Amino acid sequence: MIQSVETHATIAEAQRAMGADAIYMAGGTLVMRDVNAGVTATRIVRSSDPVLADIRLSGDGVTIGAGVTMAMIAVHRDLTFLAPVARSVGGPQIRNMATVGGNLFAPHPYGDFAVAMLALGARVSVAGQSAAPRPIADVLRERGRIGLVASVQVPRPQAPADFGFLKASRIKPKGVSVLSIAAYLPRQGGRIRGARVAFGAMGPMPLQASAVERVLDGQSLDAATITRAAQVAVEGLDPPTDPLATTWYRREVAGVHLKRLLERMARG
Ligand SMILES: Cc1cc2nc3c(=O)[nH]c(=O)nc-3n(C[C@H](O)[C@H](O)[C@H](O)COP(=O)(O)OP(=O)(O)OC[C@H]3O[C@@H](n4cnc5c(N)ncnc54)[C@H](O)[C@@H]3O)c2cc1C
Repeated sequence: MIQSVETHATIAEAQRAMGADAIYMAGGTLVMRDVNAGVTATRIVRSSDPVLADIRLSGDGVTIGAGVTMAMIAVHRDLTFLAPVARSVGGPQIRNMATVGGNLFAPHPYGDFAVAMLALGARVSVAGQSAAPRPIADVLRERGRIGLVASVQVPRPQAPADFGFLKASRIKPKGVSVLSIAAYLPRQGGRIRGARVAFGAMGPMPLQASAVERVLDGQSLDAATITRAAQVAVEGLDPPTDPLATTWYRREVAGVHLKRLLERMARG
């Protein structure tokens, strides 16, 4: 039973107010479900820090406040590369509430936006810490212990075709992921330099597809390379069985969807 809801003026104060009896609530699309089911902490901690709603461009990157919603991203003129990712999260009501910060902590099979952040190599600023922003892969691995996220710093692809996202779901257009894939393939002289590919719903959290990255790196995105990448799609991934799909099914279709995404990116 919830006994208090506290709103703090800064995210650092909210961080200090956390404890074993508290849960932080952003958009509340998941937290409120637990509140209504009576299965959450006794204190809800919130923050009205304006930094959380900030979208700030800097050089070839952008800093996105943890409280920025999917709806805000979907219409931002400088974040068109992320718009398809934001639009893939739930329906319009969910997107109006669902935040970037909450998506990093959303359990399987959720976390489509986090998949894109992982592929882009985003870095995460944790509330109340002056240390350099942390790689998102670390944050996703340690998400029970990391503390509150203040913002994410995201590189902006130089060419639109360098970044691609695909979500496979059973219900169109707003179903939950059977799997999602994001690929960031910066190219120099036609060759991929520093490939990053991430899968969602193919493990307990969004996971990088290291075998795929190794196949793609240094290559041009041609038919032979795409076929080889698809062949190693599930290497190192550990898809669960859930009501949407079995482990077997996810493993069978991962390469097919990766091939489709890479072919789309090759066409530009
Ligand atoms: C009907 C429905 C459909 C959905 N469809 C999708 C979908 O298609 N794709 C998808 O990815 N997700 C989906 N979701 C899940 C969810 O809506 C999103 O993942 C959303 O981004 C979560 O954000 P939120 O702000 O609502 O999180 P909240 O519910 O507020 O919080 C979720 C978790 O994140 C933690 N948290 C929130 N903000 C922070 C922060 N700044 N720092 C540290 N911890 C934080 C909370 O403590 C909590 O543990 C769906 C949910 C519902 C109910």
